[in-house]
Amino acid sequence: MRPSENFFSLKNILRMASCTQDFNTQAFQQERYYLKSELKNKKFKDYGLHKTILQDITALGFDKPTPIQSRCIEPALEGKDVMGLAQTGTGKTAAFSLPIIQRVTNKMDMSALILAPTRELAQQITQALRDLGKSSGIRAALLVGGVPMKEDHKALRSWPNVLVATPGRLIDHIYSKTVDLSHIEILAVDEADRMYEMGFLPQIKQIIEVLPPERQTLMFTATMPKEVERLVRRHMRSPVRVQVGSVAPAARAEQKLFRVDEHDKMPLLLDILDQSEGRVLVFAQTKRKVEQLSRKISSRKSNVTRLHGDREQSQREIAMEGFRNGKYRILIATDIAARGIDVADIEHIINYDFPRCPEDYIHRIGRTARAAASGFATSFITKQDLGCLSSLEKLTSSKISLKAVGDCALERPTAPVVKKNNRKHNYRRNSHSR
Ligand code: AMP
Repeated sequence: MRPSENFFSLKNILRMASCTQDFNTQAFQQERYYLKSELKNKKFKDYGLHKTILQDITALGFDKPTPIQSRCIEPALEGKDVMGLAQTGTGKTAAFSLPIIQRVTNKMDMSALILAPTRELAQQITQALRDLGKSSGIRAALLVGGVPMKEDHKALRSWPNVLVATPGRLIDHIYSKTVDLSHIEILAVDEADRMYEMGFLPQIKQIIEVLPPERQTLMFTATMPKEVERLVRRHMRSPVRVQVGSVAPAARAEQKLFRVDEHDKMPLLLDILDQSEGRVLVFAQTKRKVEQLSRKISSRKSNVTRLHGDREQSQREIAMEGFRNGKYRILIATDIAARGIDVADIEHIINYDFPRCPEDYIHRIGRTARAAASGFATSFITKQDLGCLSSLEKLTSSKISLKAVGDCALERPTAPVVKKNNRKHNYRRNSHSR
């Protein structure tokens, strides 16, 4: 079938509006969705969502769909596979949760599975599902590591129709035959690119193997390296690919880069913490570094907590909850806190250690300036980080001004060090340090 002239001209309009297009065999289908939703400025009620869902949307104060929601909800409701890419904090959770709630309401069997890379994100998604599906009587169960198995068994006995899980714990249940995934109609994967990194990929494959092949698959993320997208597509059927905006940190975050020597980092961090009043999230590269920073900062400030993969589940929950409710003003974390975590009003993100791969920078910075808010993002760059900075600038096609601290020479990066073949290695190493 050849598209009409008109179709092509509209395609050009959309291309100029910087919507990334995928001109493979699915192009016609995808662009029809862009046209339908982009040009019509839809409201939530226009999607045919159940009244109960609309009630809960209103109760949450959502006036109209965000761009990622307006482009994804319709194809997802029609049962199409969807790959949704949009900056962090732009409403991706509701973009996949609303179609899931619509489809599983009134189902007795476990009909939808949502996978997330961290326990904290899985908990947050479960809460969002419960809020958006409250009046629809959605029954969401959460399976994450660090929780006693008997709590999982209790959750599974309560006839959930949606399951939210981290891969490791779900695999435990698959092995012990304590979960039945044979009725899953929809699989949603949040932070999909992270889930297809080397650390998680074998688990994802194992899980997908036991799901019905005729299921619908929804993949969402803020960043999707091309080589990872190829892997992701193997588990999807003719996906509608929706990309809102370009790969970039949240536009309202004011970014600052300080070129420092390693020994300057701590005094600079303490200065910034002294000057700030709002919530601050500090990222360090390893669990050990988080512990070290936490000890040093705690000796000067009382409202500090820390989050990394070696802490007990209960400690992780106390840290997150305390940071959310204002008990702690400063959270020091590994990249475990970089993805998806939605804490209102984080004023300042500090990359004490610059991230090893550029996608991590975008996710970390995405913790501030969420929804309509604004924020600051400060990164410390040592000589060793200049190559990573160059990779970031290449990915985002933008340059951020660099300020030298102390005796540092103000040299700019020259060429990216993270080469294509290297990325997998970096991913693997990262997964072990969180
Ligand atoms: P997410 O990107 O899913 O983490 O969402 C970021 C924040 O935006 C969350 O606090 C959501 O509650 C909020 N949000 C999601 N959808 C909408 C909407 N349509 N209108 C206003 N806020 C929204």
